[in-house]
Amino acid sequence: MILPELVYHAPTSLSEAMALLLEAPAARILAGGTDLIVMMKEGRAAPPRLVSLRRIERLHRVELEGAGVTIGSAATIGDIHRSGLLDGHAAFADMVPLMATPQIRNRATIGGNLCTAAACADTPPVLLVADAETEIEGPSGQRAVPLSRFFVGVRRTCLQPGEILGSVRIPRVMPASAYVKFGVRGAGNVAQVGVAAAVTLDGERVNDLRVAFTAAAPTPVLLDAEELGFTSAVPSRDLIEAVAEAASERARPISDLRGSAGYRRHLVGVGVRRALRRAFARAGRPIDG
Ligand SMILES: Cc1cc2nc3c(=O)[nH]c(=O)nc-3n(C[C@H](O)[C@H](O)[C@H](O)COP(=O)(O)OP(=O)(O)OC[C@H]3O[C@@H](n4cnc5c(N)ncnc54)[C@H](O)[C@@H]3O)c2cc1C
Repeated sequence: MILPELVYHAPTSLSEAMALLLEAPAARILAGGTDLIVMMKEGRAAPPRLVSLRRIERLHRVELEGAGVTIGSAATIGDIHRSGLLDGHAAFADMVPLMATPQIRNRATIGGNLCTAAACADTPPVLLVADAETEIEGPSGQRAVPLSRFFVGVRRTCLQPGEILGSVRIPRVMPASAYVKFGVRGAGNVAQVGVAAAVTLDGERVNDLRVAFTAAAPTPVLLDAEELGFTSAVPSRDLIEAVAEAASERARPISDLRGSAGYRRHLVGVGVRRALRRAFARAGRPIDG
């Protein structure tokens, strides 16, 4: 379908972009367009104006900041991968080749992947296990929101009118982490279920353990060791089984073309087992069996 006529803006500053959004509430932010333009071509969105983030320099940055990494919302998955700054976050490195195709990864931005808030997006679980925080720019200033509170429903985020996701901050990369994705065709495919896990050890015991999953609830789900009651547990097959069971119980999947609710719930458990095993192995504590 040919797009209807619309007004296109390409501001060079955030303040200009926010003013344009406030002036025309029906306007939509355009980042890489791999979601929005597809929706417009399918007639599922018809914004009269687009406000592109392309020319706002600071939204493209990928920078080390202390022990962490700050990623501007308009950085593409390809930009982030090429920066090498998330190479140490093994879950991200696992995810990149599994997300879409090289062509899409060179257009798709991290901000677009988060703000589109699709229940099956790949970056949220990978960022959630690293305790990522979002920096939101708004007409009345900046606010920081933990990524775990950013999503409020299917295709709904906590962003208010006129607000723009400015950046995502990962306080520290997690080398002992992993991402496992199930899809009908494997890579280049939307997730049936995606599971990320991250662990840190304190000697022989678990200091921190997190799992997060996508495509099995209206929003991405994060479970941490404290909530699970597994702080100070000894890494073992039983521990992995208990986390897999807890995660499956938290899943609220739907049935659709890509799989039934029951199958998705099963995949959450399988994904947790595989991701946690890989994370423990990367922490130097492989678990047999
Ligand atoms: C063939 C194909 C395969 C795909 N495969 C996958 C896959 O495997 N995994 C996956 O997760 N996704 C996949 N996608 C979906 C898509 O590529 C991603 O969701 C992408 O990251 C969206 O980013 P974008 O920059 O293109 O966003 P856009 O399409 O430009 O924007 C998406 C939404 O976010 C809003 N938005 C964008 N940036 C901001 C911001 N900074 N602040 C506020 N709102 C903002 C826009 O207004 C719009 O509503 C696929 C898409 C296609 C076409």
